[in-house]
Amino acid sequence: MNGKRPLVAVLTGAGISTDSGIPDYRGPQGLWQRDPSAQELVTIGPYLASTEVRRRAWLMRRDAGAIGARPNAGHRALADLERAGVPVRVLTQNVDGLHQAAGVSPRKVLELHGTATGVRCAGCGESGPMAAALARVAAGEDDPACARCGGVLRPCTVMFGEPLDERVLEQAETIARNCQVFLAVGSSLQVHPAALLPRIALEHGARLIVVNGEPTPYDAEAHEVVRTPISTALPALVARLVDGDLSGL
Ligand code: ZN
Repeated sequence: MNGKRPLVAVLTGAGISTDSGIPDYRGPQGLWQRDPSAQELVTIGPYLASTEVRRRAWLMRRDAGAIGARPNAGHRALADLERAGVPVRVLTQNVDGLHQAAGVSPRKVLELHGTATGVRCAGCGESGPMAAALARVAAGEDDPACARCGGVLRPCTVMFGEPLDERVLEQAETIARNCQVFLAVGSSLQVHPAALLPRIALEHGARLIVVNGEPTPYDAEAHEVVRTPISTALPALVARLVDGDLSGL
């Protein structure tokens, strides 16, 4: 820790990445709610059982990769916060790796739903970069298999039908207990564990700031609710945090 400076926990959801062109698949209007055949592609049972499902999943990943999503001003603001010497931990529901791409130290990012930047073998556990697997798809393989054992390659995300990683959850809860400022950004705060973490932070005396376009269940209890777009709201909030303006301690 860094002297008297308060620990800032930042929980991020899909809303921070929509400005980078990544759709909110899980949201109420998201693809996975509207289209059951799309949800199959990210559900572990059908994915492991069906070559056809995997072929479609690889096409979906190829198309998603083609967007070439880059960090936006919201991601960059959080990297600035760390660079300014403010102790910060990012807890993210996103799997896009954009916090790290923006310059936040990987060890300070906790990925609650894993990462889509990597793949691993469902059989032997061998892992590698998603980009290498997508290169094989581009070269004509419609369901690239593990190079070591021939097993099924899957993304390093938590797929539907799989539990969250207990160790990651415990770390997230510890951070929520120990932070002085809890910033909830671009998350509806309605789905576990995002629904729980602000509660833990509030119970341990943290200041809660909600930045989200839509109302959340925590708005009434939050010390501050910000409705302006994340890519403009976050740089302003970060400037205040760097000045110590939000610590209230
Ligand atoms: Zn393998």
